[in-house]
Amino acid sequence: MPKKTLYVAKIRNGTVIDHITAGHAMDVAKILGIAGRTNGGIVTIAMNVASKKLGKKDMVKIEGRELNPDEVDKIALLAPHASINIIRNYEVIEKKEVKLPRVLKGIIKCANPACISNSDEPVQPKFYVESEEPLSVKCHYCGYIMEKQDILKQF
Ligand SMILES: [Zn+2]
Repeated sequence: MPKKTLYVAKIRNGTVIDHITAGHAMDVAKILGIAGRTNGGIVTIAMNVASKKLGKKDMVKIEGRELNPDEVDKIALLAPHASINIIRNYEVIEKKEVKLPRVLKGIIKCANPACISNSDEPVQPKFYVESEEPLSVKCHYCGYIMEKQDILKQF
Protein backbone atom coordinates (compact mmCIF):
# COMPACT_ATOMS: atom_id res chain seq x y z
CA MET A 1 0.00 0.00 0.00
CA PRO A 2 1.46 3.40 -0.89
CA LYS A 3 2.29 5.57 2.11
CA LYS A 4 -0.13 8.26 1.02
CA THR A 5 -3.12 5.95 1.37
CA LEU A 6 -1.90 4.83 4.75
CA TYR A 7 -2.33 8.29 6.22
CA VAL A 8 -5.37 9.45 4.31
CA ALA A 9 -7.78 6.54 4.17
CA LYS A 10 -8.49 5.96 7.83
CA ILE A 11 -11.52 8.13 8.48
CA ARG A 12 -15.02 7.27 7.37
CA ASN A 13 -16.53 10.72 6.86
CA GLY A 14 -14.82 14.04 7.23
CA THR A 15 -11.91 16.08 5.97
CA VAL A 16 -8.20 15.48 5.62
CA ILE A 17 -6.09 18.60 5.28
CA ASP A 18 -2.89 17.45 3.64
CA HIS A 19 0.36 19.16 2.62
CA ILE A 20 0.31 21.63 5.47
CA THR A 21 3.70 23.31 5.77
CA ALA A 22 5.57 21.43 8.52
CA GLY A 23 5.06 23.06 11.90
CA HIS A 24 1.69 24.59 11.05
CA ALA A 25 -0.73 21.82 11.97
CA MET A 26 -1.54 23.44 15.31
CA ASP A 27 -2.24 26.77 13.62
CA VAL A 28 -4.67 25.04 11.30
CA ALA A 29 -6.32 23.32 14.27
CA LYS A 30 -6.63 26.71 15.92
CA ILE A 31 -8.25 28.28 12.86
CA LEU A 32 -10.81 25.54 12.79
CA GLY A 33 -11.54 25.95 16.47
CA ILE A 34 -10.58 22.39 17.26
CA ALA A 35 -7.50 23.11 19.38
CA GLY A 36 -8.38 22.53 23.00
CA ARG A 37 -11.95 21.51 22.24
CA THR A 38 -13.13 18.31 23.81
CA ASN A 39 -16.46 17.82 22.07
CA GLY A 40 -16.98 16.98 18.41
CA GLY A 41 -15.47 14.25 16.28
CA ILE A 42 -12.05 12.68 16.39
CA VAL A 43 -9.25 14.96 15.27
CA THR A 44 -5.88 13.52 14.33
CA ILE A 45 -2.87 15.73 13.91
CA ALA A 46 0.20 14.30 12.21
CA MET A 47 3.40 16.32 12.19
CA ASN A 48 6.62 15.98 10.24
CA VAL A 49 5.28 13.35 7.86
CA ALA A 50 7.67 12.59 4.97
CA SER A 51 6.53 14.31 1.77
CA LYS A 52 7.99 14.26 -1.73
CA LYS A 53 6.59 17.70 -2.45
CA LEU A 54 7.53 19.51 0.74
CA GLY A 55 10.22 17.37 2.37
CA LYS A 56 8.21 17.29 5.54
CA LYS A 57 4.57 18.13 6.02
CA ASP A 58 1.83 18.18 8.61
CA MET A 59 -1.67 16.77 8.27
CA VAL A 60 -4.93 17.30 10.11
CA LYS A 61 -7.76 14.77 9.90
CA ILE A 62 -11.19 15.72 11.15
CA GLU A 63 -13.80 13.06 11.54
CA GLY A 64 -17.39 13.95 10.73
CA ARG A 65 -16.85 17.48 9.48
CA GLU A 66 -16.50 19.21 6.13
CA LEU A 67 -15.07 22.71 5.88
CA ASN A 68 -16.88 25.83 4.74
CA PRO A 69 -15.30 28.23 2.20
CA ASP A 70 -14.28 30.74 4.89
CA GLU A 71 -12.40 28.04 6.75
CA VAL A 72 -10.67 26.97 3.54
CA ASP A 73 -9.56 30.58 2.91
CA LYS A 74 -8.25 30.85 6.46
CA ILE A 75 -6.21 27.69 5.97
CA ALA A 76 -4.81 29.14 2.74
CA LEU A 77 -3.51 32.09 4.75
CA LEU A 78 -1.25 29.90 6.85
CA ALA A 79 -0.72 26.84 4.67
CA PRO A 80 -0.76 27.98 1.04
CA HIS A 81 0.24 24.53 -0.27
CA ALA A 82 -2.41 22.57 1.61
CA SER A 83 -4.88 20.30 -0.09
CA ILE A 84 -8.30 19.46 1.25
CA ASN A 85 -9.64 15.95 0.85
CA ILE A 86 -13.31 15.35 1.54
CA ILE A 87 -13.90 11.80 2.70
CA ARG A 88 -17.20 9.96 2.53
CA ASN A 89 -17.47 6.33 3.38
CA TYR A 90 -13.66 5.96 3.45
CA GLU A 91 -13.31 7.29 -0.12
CA VAL A 92 -11.79 10.60 -1.18
CA ILE A 93 -14.74 12.08 -3.05
CA GLU A 94 -13.22 15.48 -3.59
CA LYS A 95 -9.69 16.81 -3.50
CA LYS A 96 -8.92 20.48 -3.86
CA GLU A 97 -5.88 22.67 -3.45
CA VAL A 98 -6.38 25.68 -1.23
CA LYS A 99 -5.92 28.93 -3.02
CA LEU A 100 -5.39 32.22 -1.29
CA PRO A 101 -7.62 34.87 -2.91
CA ARG A 102 -5.96 38.15 -3.93
CA VAL A 103 -8.55 40.01 -1.89
CA LEU A 104 -9.80 38.88 1.52
CA LYS A 105 -13.19 40.07 2.65
CA GLY A 106 -14.53 39.64 6.15
CA ILE A 107 -12.22 36.79 7.14
CA ILE A 108 -9.80 38.76 9.27
CA LYS A 109 -9.91 42.07 11.08
CA CYS A 110 -7.58 45.03 10.75
CA ALA A 111 -5.11 45.22 13.63
CA ASN A 112 -5.10 49.02 13.52
CA PRO A 113 -7.59 50.12 16.22
CA ALA A 114 -8.13 53.46 14.44
CA CYS A 115 -9.11 51.79 11.17
CA ILE A 116 -12.61 52.59 9.92
CA SER A 117 -13.30 48.86 9.61
CA ASN A 118 -13.00 48.68 13.43
CA SER A 119 -15.43 51.55 14.07
CA ASP A 120 -19.13 51.12 14.75
CA GLU A 121 -19.90 51.66 11.09
CA PRO A 122 -20.78 48.46 9.31
CA VAL A 123 -17.70 48.33 7.12
CA GLN A 124 -16.56 44.90 6.00
CA PRO A 125 -12.83 44.38 6.46
CA LYS A 126 -10.99 44.07 3.17
CA PHE A 127 -7.37 43.15 2.59
CA TYR A 128 -5.06 42.75 -0.37
CA VAL A 129 -2.63 39.86 -0.28
CA GLU A 130 0.77 41.41 -0.94
CA SER A 131 2.80 38.27 -0.38
CA GLU A 132 1.90 34.65 0.34
CA GLU A 133 5.17 33.44 1.87
CA PRO A 134 6.02 35.11 4.09
CA LEU A 135 2.44 36.21 4.48
CA SER A 136 1.71 39.90 4.23
CA VAL A 137 -1.69 41.52 3.72
CA LYS A 138 -2.60 45.18 3.41
CA CYS A 139 -5.78 46.82 4.68
CA HIS A 140 -7.87 48.43 1.95
CA TYR A 141 -9.00 51.24 4.26
CA CYS A 142 -5.94 52.31 6.24
CA GLY A 143 -3.03 50.63 4.46
CA TYR A 144 -1.97 48.80 7.62
CA ILE A 145 0.21 45.79 6.84
CA MET A 146 -0.39 42.60 8.78
CA GLU A 147 1.83 39.56 8.91
CA LYS A 148 1.24 36.01 9.95
CA GLN A 149 1.69 36.57 13.68
CA ASP A 150 -0.84 39.42 13.65
CA ILE A 151 -3.36 37.24 11.89
CA LEU A 152 -2.78 34.20 14.08
CA LYS A 153 -3.68 36.24 17.15
CA GLN A 154 -7.22 36.63 15.83
CA PHE A 155 -8.06 32.95 15.63
ZN1 LIG B 1 -7.29 48.99 8.42
